[in-house]
Amino acid sequence: MSVEEPEMHRVGLELAFEQAHLAYSAQELPIGCVILGPNGLVMAQTYNKMESRGDKTAHAEILALQEVAEKNYTQTSEPNGWTLYTTLEPCPMCLTAIVFSGIGKVVWATKDPRLEKSNYFDELPYKSKNKLLRVAHPLKDLEDKGRRIYEIGLEARKARRMLQTLPTRKKLRSQQLPHRLPSVLGLASQESASPERRASL
Ligand SMILES: [Zn+2]
Repeated sequence: MSVEEPEMHRVGLELAFEQAHLAYSAQELPIGCVILGPNGLVMAQTYNKMESRGDKTAHAEILALQEVAEKNYTQTSEPNGWTLYTTLEPCPMCLTAIVFSGIGKVVWATKDPRLEKSNYFDELPYKSKNKLLRVAHPLKDLEDKGRRIYEIGLEARKARRMLQTLPTRKKLRSQQLPHRLPSVLGLASQESASPERRASL
């Protein structure tokens, strides 16, 4: 890892956390993803939309890969020079899709506790062919932040689902659930950044 890379990873992961914040505000599981080009160009920034789309495959990473294709970046730039940043370790579906996309590097803030005993990344047969390089939770403070955000998101989702099963009168309480987590993210509520924005590396 070069000297510049930890700082680049911090920028990429902070942008991904902004997306996780937007996901939480939209009552989605707070997972965010950003794809940066080699010169810091923000090529995609997305968050998990499983709830709003009613689609269990609408993970942040899948949506980011679709975004770069829709913008025709795959026609004009070599994916091997791109880095995909995600706030949570990619699931097997997303990791496989990342490998097939040809993206050269994947960086995540926090390990997914559900994948703790798996060795999926190292055993994926297509990985060596496409030379995907993993950089898992490279920054301790962001790893802690990512884990807290994920845990809060899981609790909020559990609480919402529990309230949805209660009588109508009690459903009103669901409106009192916190939909923002600025104290954890260290961010004010904000709109998604411009897709053409460049990360300041
Ligand atoms: Zn996934």
